[in-house]
Amino acid sequence: MKDLYARHRAVLPDWLALYYDEPVELTHGEGRHVWDAAGRRYLDFFGGILTTMTAHALPDVTKAVAEQAGRIIHSSTLYLNRPMVDLAERVAALSGIPDARVFFTTSGTEANDTALLLATAHRRSNQILAMRNSYHGRSFTSVGITGNQSWSPTSLSPLQTLYVHGGVRSRGPYAALSDAEFTAACVADLRDMLGQSRGGVAALIAEPIQGVGGFTSPPDGLYAAFREVLAEHGILWIADEVQTGWGRTGDHFWGWQAHAAAGPPDLLTFAKGIGNGMSIGGVVGRAEIMNSLDANSISTFGGSPVTMAAGLANLSYLLEHDLQGNARRVGGLLIERLRAVCAQLPVVREVRGRGLMIGIELVRPGTEEANPQAAAAVLEAAREGGLLIGKGGGHSTSVLRVAPPLSLTVAEAEEGAAILERALRSV
Ligand code: PLP
Repeated sequence: MKDLYARHRAVLPDWLALYYDEPVELTHGEGRHVWDAAGRRYLDFFGGILTTMTAHALPDVTKAVAEQAGRIIHSSTLYLNRPMVDLAERVAALSGIPDARVFFTTSGTEANDTALLLATAHRRSNQILAMRNSYHGRSFTSVGITGNQSWSPTSLSPLQTLYVHGGVRSRGPYAALSDAEFTAACVADLRDMLGQSRGGVAALIAEPIQGVGGFTSPPDGLYAAFREVLAEHGILWIADEVQTGWGRTGDHFWGWQAHAAAGPPDLLTFAKGIGNGMSIGGVVGRAEIMNSLDANSISTFGGSPVTMAAGLANLSYLLEHDLQGNARRVGGLLIERLRAVCAQLPVVREVRGRGLMIGIELVRPGTEEANPQAAAAVLEAAREGGLLIGKGGGHSTSVLRVAPPLSLTVAEAEEGAAILERALRSV
């Protein structure tokens, strides 16, 4: 019998990339730890790509899933669905968007597709503004507007996309600018791009902190400055909170709140952490836009009672245990510790992030050149040491990504930082 890796290679497409020279099969998890098929335990600092939000095998969530599955797994969109209405009410209230409506999908990609469908229908335009270096999903539409073209196998999107600066400034002509200068330069760039459009752009879609792009934050208030320009043209703002939502960034429940003067976005997309691993995505937005489709549109599995029950239990736990506050406190300690460690390491260019969303950018020592080989080596060495971390994607593979479940303890943060320090020193 062939081993699992060989079987995987034989039956799944080549572009479904795996981490590690010897890929790991995770068989179970508990709290912030996971175990592989050989029985090795790892501290999980990537949370299934920021998806295990509270903890692995959280009893509240597993109980809610089992109970709901024992009652009814699927009822279809044709009938009333109590867990869906319950979760929609909570998401609407938490969104900060007045008179909000919520639509559930099964992934972040589908959430962004839906937001783009709504925005283009509402504005009767197929022109979209997106950020350079962004990532919004894998479907034809969402990969088509993704700024980081190394993710884009076709580039035949039916949408016309205009890319603007602002998501990342660690490289290129903007690197040396102050926050205020950078913001002014990005606003000028936005105005320039709008001047090159046909007019009537539907929306700007942006991640408040770029996730796959390497955990890069714009200066606080950048999107407030953008919003003023967008408002002059009636252009909508879609905040892609797939990675930044639910308290991950510590200071704020949503990433957009770092730009609070902008007010809440017109549409906000979410996924990943809300289900703690169950497949929930969705869009929450202003009723006027959410109601703008003139044909029925359903998602067979979006809002499935089992996933909704998981979301409700997970969200309740997250709020009752103030995991956002924990992300701020423990994430603050972790980033300080990592900065202290990395200050003496010439392979590290920058340690950045907010809450429990921390990026470590690696370079060739003495240069500004990206060092994806070192990042791959640190990933391997960390795994050897019993720690799972992530990397950026596309052009950002020289950035290590640290994003544990938000219930991380101080002791676990210390333990993970020590393993990471050894891994970084080993390359
Ligand atoms: N948007 C952002 C910001 C993401 O990081 C991702 C996935 O990593 C997506 C959208 C797509 O979500 P999904 O993989 O659930 O389709």
